[in-house]
Amino acid sequence: MCPPVAGFETVQAIYFDLDDTLCAYWEAAKEGLRDAFDQHPIPGKSTREMLGIWAVEFRRFARELKSSEWYDDYLTQGGVTRARLIYETLCAAGIEDRDLADQISDTYGRERDRRLSLFPEAADVLRVLHGRFPLGLITNGPADVQRQEIETLGIKDYFDHVFIEGELRIGKPHAVVMEKAEAAVGLTGASLLFVGNSYSNDILPAIERGWRTVWIRRPTDVPPSSRTGKPEERPEGSPLPDAETDDLRDLLRLLGLN
Ligand SMILES: [Mg+2]
Repeated sequence: MCPPVAGFETVQAIYFDLDDTLCAYWEAAKEGLRDAFDQHPIPGKSTREMLGIWAVEFRRFARELKSSEWYDDYLTQGGVTRARLIYETLCAAGIEDRDLADQISDTYGRERDRRLSLFPEAADVLRVLHGRFPLGLITNGPADVQRQEIETLGIKDYFDHVFIEGELRIGKPHAVVMEKAEAAVGLTGASLLFVGNSYSNDILPAIERGWRTVWIRRPTDVPPSSRTGKPEERPEGSPLPDAETDDLRDLLRLLGLN
């Protein structure tokens, strides 16, 4: 067994982000949404056109969500805002039909969950780390959707601590979320490692609290709302993570476990 890579020998507990860190959320979402519009065709519009309209609406919705009247509903029930977003997508396509929006939203939610799976190496890595380190999840999103994802993926038993935006009623990148995670394991600073795919929501707030960080960057990690069609870039001049990788097995190497 090799020793830990310099800097990682301090790590005593590990927190993970969930979506697109341990599972391919956006891939499942894109396919689920495509299925939903395929199963409920919109007269005069192709599925591709509807996905384009949805992406425009999603960008606006995501920007306004936290300050909108919908945020309280979103925290507890993903279905409410999901249906609202589909309704606004239909309106933008010239169709005002709440029942149809509800049907498309239900199909989307069901198909997305059915397609959700762990990255191929994730279970093996969690199995090795479990028992050697306290493990936790820190994930943004509605309480019901995030709990369902954890159930669907079968990963609950790996984690000693689970922090969900919908349950805390506050999400990353707020420092209070990281403070709660620190308190749960009784550790601070470089004793903690955060593993996440979002520079702004996962990596930067962890760096700001002195945690070690591993930035998961997969070429497929492109939200349907992306303007560039590329994965997120680190803003120029912002601090570097301790490591970047597109394969969770690198964690075992960094921590001296392979
Ligand atoms: Mg994520």
